[in-house]
This record gives sequence, structure tokens and C-alpha cells, in this order.
Amino acid sequence: MIEANNPKLTSWIAVDNDSDFPIQNIPFGIGKPQHKSPRPLSRIGDFAIDLSVLSDYGFFDDLKIENYGVFYAPVLNDLMELGKPLWKSIRNRISEIFKEENAQLRDDKVIRKEAIIPMNEVEMMMPVEVGDYTDFYSSVEHATNVGAMFRDPDNALLPNWKHIPIGYHGRSSSIVVSGTDIHRPKGQYKLDTEEKPQFGPCRLFDFELEMAFITGSKTKLGESIDIKNAEDHIFGLVLFNDLTARDIQKWEYVPLGPFLGKNFGSVVSPWIVTLEALEPFRTDGPKQEPEVLPYLQFNGARNFDVSLEVYLQPENSDKSIVCQSNLKYLYWNMSQQLAHHTVNGCNINPGDMYASGTISGPTPDSYGSMLELSWKGTKTITLKDGSERKFVNDNDTIIMKGYAIKDGVRIGFGDCVTKVLPTL
Ligand code: CA
Repeated sequence: MIEANNPKLTSWIAVDNDSDFPIQNIPFGIGKPQHKSPRPLSRIGDFAIDLSVLSDYGFFDDLKIENYGVFYAPVLNDLMELGKPLWKSIRNRISEIFKEENAQLRDDKVIRKEAIIPMNEVEMMMPVEVGDYTDFYSSVEHATNVGAMFRDPDNALLPNWKHIPIGYHGRSSSIVVSGTDIHRPKGQYKLDTEEKPQFGPCRLFDFELEMAFITGSKTKLGESIDIKNAEDHIFGLVLFNDLTARDIQKWEYVPLGPFLGKNFGSVVSPWIVTLEALEPFRTDGPKQEPEVLPYLQFNGARNFDVSLEVYLQPENSDKSIVCQSNLKYLYWNMSQQLAHHTVNGCNINPGDMYASGTISGPTPDSYGSMLELSWKGTKTITLKDGSERKFVNDNDTIIMKGYAIKDGVRIGFGDCVTKVLPTL
């Protein structure tokens, strides 16, 4: 077992029972404390930990890190490039510093004051510079639902779906951190009942409940990542809201796939939860039938049991839960996605982001998009304030949550929040 994951660990920083960030989490993010520049942080409870201060005072000195600049950079890309053994050492070291019985920092008021910052005094920022972004389509339930609605209920899955993890290359410039509001996009669309395309504000604004993994390593062009050690390249995960204009998407996606229906904004949670922190939550994925080709075959449990929730909150009103799903439902796991992505020699870089695709579960309340929840607009969803939705309205806030619980330890991702503003 990784000692930093020990459920018995407690910290000298007080942590609420329902916090996403007990000492067993130790996520990584970038935040801007008041009057200071953006810097790498971790978090315990409601406090951010300034890694640059810990580095200043020599807490990482014996870890033999070649470039201590990684603790002062405005993005985590360089820290990730140190490689998995050092990510683990840094996380373990942070865990040691903050455990209950370690007096070194606990009893040093001067350094404590500098290194520990209340979260309400920190503005969270994009944790990485995203060089490349890929969006997969890995939930069999989502692919089946969409195929049934848009094509043919009897042949909902295309013949390739159970043989290759389907994906497309998306846009990285419009991936933004939680708390960033997004304007309803304008675009071109045509309903089946209409003769000519029109231009105007999107009429069918949607979210997609996804998680994204972020690679921490660099490979050479021509090199492939073997599925056996694919996880060695994965730094961690974030929640990912792949905002979608369904009407624009429907009109544009044949023959080359998603474009303006997707690239107006995608929102990520600010804390990267490491794959190490998720280790206790490994679980088997759905049985893959037919058998996949050898380069996609794997051993052991490669899915993770992470509960996922989506809430809609109308302006000046309470939030209502509209979806409860789980990361474990994914048919194609992250190892398969990365092995497939690089099997042709495509190179990867630290900070590259790979979204899972909408994570829908088997039951109607677990569908990860309004498209599926309202079944293409044929059903309505009633919110707590009595208002009804088929898609997302202007001034609605979309909130995504993700957390895993085992042995009394809750490892969470923090909220992924965005408000939909009217068209500019
Ligand atoms: Ca998507």
C-alpha cells in the first residue's frame, strides 16, 4: 500500500468529514494567493499548501529533483515531466509533513503562516498548459443512447465501436478552469423539419459529464505506449464538462465530427487528483465482448469507482441534482485509450488532456447529458423550484462533483462549476 493512502492517517490541519480533501488526497493545482503570483499548490481541508514555500525552506531538498523551478512555475507541466517516481515522492513528502504527529512544520509558526493559505484567499487557475486535447467516446451506454436517437435504435453502435476506443482531436485554447462562465454560442443549424439552415444563438445548450486524465510524460514521435505501462504516463484526473451546442453539432458533424458545437468552452475542476490517490478505488470495468485485439488487452482492474453527480442551479434558486453516474461504467479504460492513441506513433506531452467521453450509466437517472436525460427533448426534467428543462437555460449554473469513498476516506475532486450566460 502507498503510505500516503493509509486510511488511518490524520493531519494536524483540521478536515471536515465530508471534505473532498483529507490528507489521503494531496491533489495538485495552480492558484493565485492574494497579492502573489500563480504557483503550484496542494490542499488539505479548506487550506491550500504553497509548494514554493515548502521548497524555499528545503522540505523537498533530499528528493534529488534536478529542477527546483517546478515548484515556482505558473503551470504544473514541468513538475509532471519529472516522471512518476518523483510525483510519488513529492506527494509522499507532503503527506509526511502534514500528518498529525510530525512537529516539524506544525510547530513552526513562521513557516506555517507563509505556507498555509485559507482557500477563500486563493484564486484557482488552469493547472496545466494544455498542449493537445483529445475527447474519447468510451461509455457504451452513451454511445448506444446517441446512436439510437440520431441513427437507428436497432443498430445504435457502429460496427467499429467495440473494437477501437473512438475519439477525436479537440481544441485546447477554450479549456477553462471551474468558475469561468461561458456565453451561449451562436452558430449555424438546421432542424430536420426546416428547409434551410439558420444562424443564431444555440437553441439546445448541453453539458457532457466527463472526466479527463492528464499525461505527465513525453514520448518521441514514432513511439507507442504499451498498455502494460500506460498508467506510468498518467499524472492524474480532473472533472471535465464538455459543453455542447447540440443543434450546431447535429448539422455540422457529418463527415468529420465535432467542431463549433464543442470548441466554444470546456470546463475542468482545478485540482488534479493523482492516480496514486485513486489506487484504493480500482475496480473491474464492463466485460469486453468481443475480445479486443492484443494491443488493447490488459491485466488487472483498470477502472476506478468514482461517484459522479451533475446539478443544475437556476439563478437565485437552489441546485437540483439531474444525474448520478460513475467513472467505473466506462467500457474503454484509460490504459486502453492511451495505448490506442499512441499505437500509430503519435507522441504525447506533459499537460496533454484526454477526456473520457460522456459517462452515462445503465439507468435513465445516470445519463450524463441533457440530450439523454430529456431523450432528445421528448421529456422534461423538473427542478426543485418547479421550473422545467429539456436543455440548459441562460443563467443556469452547471455543477459537477466527483468523489470516491472507501474505509471512511473520501477522495474528491472539488466542484467543476460554470454559469451559462446569454449570447454575446
Ligand atoms: Ca464529449
